Amino acid sequence: PKIVIAIDGYSSCGKSTTAKAVAAQMGYGYIDTGAMYRAVSLFFSQELVSLSNTKEVVAALDRIHITFKHNERSGKNETCLNGLTVEDEIRKMYISNIVSEVSAIPEVRWAMVAQQQKMGHKRGVVMDGRDIGTKVFPDAEVKVFMTADTVTRAQRRQQELLAKGEMVNLEDIIKNIEKRDLIDTTRTESPLRQAPDAELLDTSFMTIEEQVDWVIELADL
Ligand code: C5P
Repeated sequence: PKIVIAIDGYSSCGKSTTAKAVAAQMGYGYIDTGAMYRAVSLFFSQELVSLSNTKEVVAALDRIHITFKHNERSGKNETCLNGLTVEDEIRKMYISNIVSEVSAIPEVRWAMVAQQQKMGHKRGVVMDGRDIGTKVFPDAEVKVFMTADTVTRAQRRQQELLAKGEMVNLEDIIKNIEKRDLIDTTRTESPLRQAPDAELLDTSFMTIEEQVDWVIELADL
């Protein structure tokens, strides 16, 4: 029977890279829930939605449709906002700088969690995020909670951004990571937490391959 694999943890620990590879090996679907919060943030920033105005936020959420589309050419999954691919745009620093504030809004979370539960209801998915094991799929058969030391995480993120042509200095990335961790762990609505039944995985000294094998082994049980 197909299961749900929940991968939660701090920003830039290698969650999505690991989750993607695990999904591919198991023939499972992969859902990047962070991309959904990033797409919402992009829409809010384009439409100049005031984050403190609940009415505006709820009205804007009604006009947001997020999907994932497989790109045949690159072989990658792309996040689409109202039918248009926003995969590159949502990874930029200006989105990273607002996404935690946007995703702390309870109305935003309720809308996204409901969608994520729909997307995974047939199971057979690997989902990565902050609250998958605690909120979205508390009954996930496999739960992983990833951490790594901050500087390692910042260096990895810097490499990713550089590969896409965005140059950001390490200090700014560290600040962004620390700020997001703080908002993510202290928000009122489903804060970032290790689920009591989640296995802790510290990736500071692990290669991607080792992380993937570790999760696959856990899932095989
Ligand atoms: O995973 P990623 O770093 O792309 O997520 C971006 C941000 O979206 C996180 O820093 C967090 O604020 C938010 N997020 C969330 N809940 C999730 C996934 C992401 O609050 N399930």
